[in-house]
Amino acid sequence: AQSEETVLQVEHLTKKFGGLVAVDDLSFAVRNEEILGFIGPNGAGKSTTFNCIFGTYSPTSGTVTFNGDDVTGLPPYKMVKRGMARTFQTFRPLPDRDVLANVELAGVSDSLFTLSGLFGQSSSNAEAVCRRVGLEDDLHKMPSELPHEGMIRLEVARALATEPSFLLIDEPFAGLSSGEIESLSRLFRELRDDGTTLIIVDHNMRGLLELIDRAVVINFGSKIAEGSPEEIIADETVQEAYLGG
Ligand code: ADP
Ligand code: MG
Repeated sequence: AQSEETVLQVEHLTKKFGGLVAVDDLSFAVRNEEILGFIGPNGAGKSTTFNCIFGTYSPTSGTVTFNGDDVTGLPPYKMVKRGMARTFQTFRPLPDRDVLANVELAGVSDSLFTLSGLFGQSSSNAEAVCRRVGLEDDLHKMPSELPHEGMIRLEVARALATEPSFLLIDEPFAGLSSGEIESLSRLFRELRDDGTTLIIVDHNMRGLLELIDRAVVINFGSKIAEGSPEEIIADETVQEAYLGG
């Protein structure tokens, strides 16, 4: 069940690209088994924050603490070993492998030299993951044969293949209908109810506020609001940032 326990703590995180400050002294925490919405307009620094948490980028300054350990600057494969996984805003499946192989290969990097890797454990795990995300009828399709929503589910499956306890999901809802958003939201809630902690990014608050437990809203790399969906909707700074007030 959800608790007040903090699993991820980001403190005074700053990331500069030359003279551009993409993330600016950002601090927030994620609690165990919650869905945290990470919201902000395009260019606000959402993906850069993910990249700093997951180790794709080293932060310019600040710290990232995961399950009580300082993980600042650790590379992605070490974050995966610690139970973190992410999806990318732009999809990265292997185009010449089918859905099942894509999920298998996403999970295999870590288990390659273990007994389960040798004895094909990863294959049955990959099938279970595909079922989990609703791709059980698409195992032998090529990624290019999937509709847009299927591609997003494949991206989520590839992240789940490493059996994470913590998932970073970057803009899953772009280009989806409200029905598809609802159905994908159901999956995210199920993952949370099964004990996964999630951060879900969106630039649009509408679909997200229905799904999340709490939100952090950023603009120009800085936090402008944090709280429950109700608190976020009522926040004047948020309204100004979104309505250009
Ligand atoms: P968001 O995901 O909220 O749309 P990003 O984190 O992608 O925003 O980008 C934040 C800012 O940092 C933008 O101005 C973007 O152009 C810049 N930026 C992101 N990645 C890089 C990079 N690798 N090199 C230079 N500038 C970058
Ligand atoms: Mg982004």
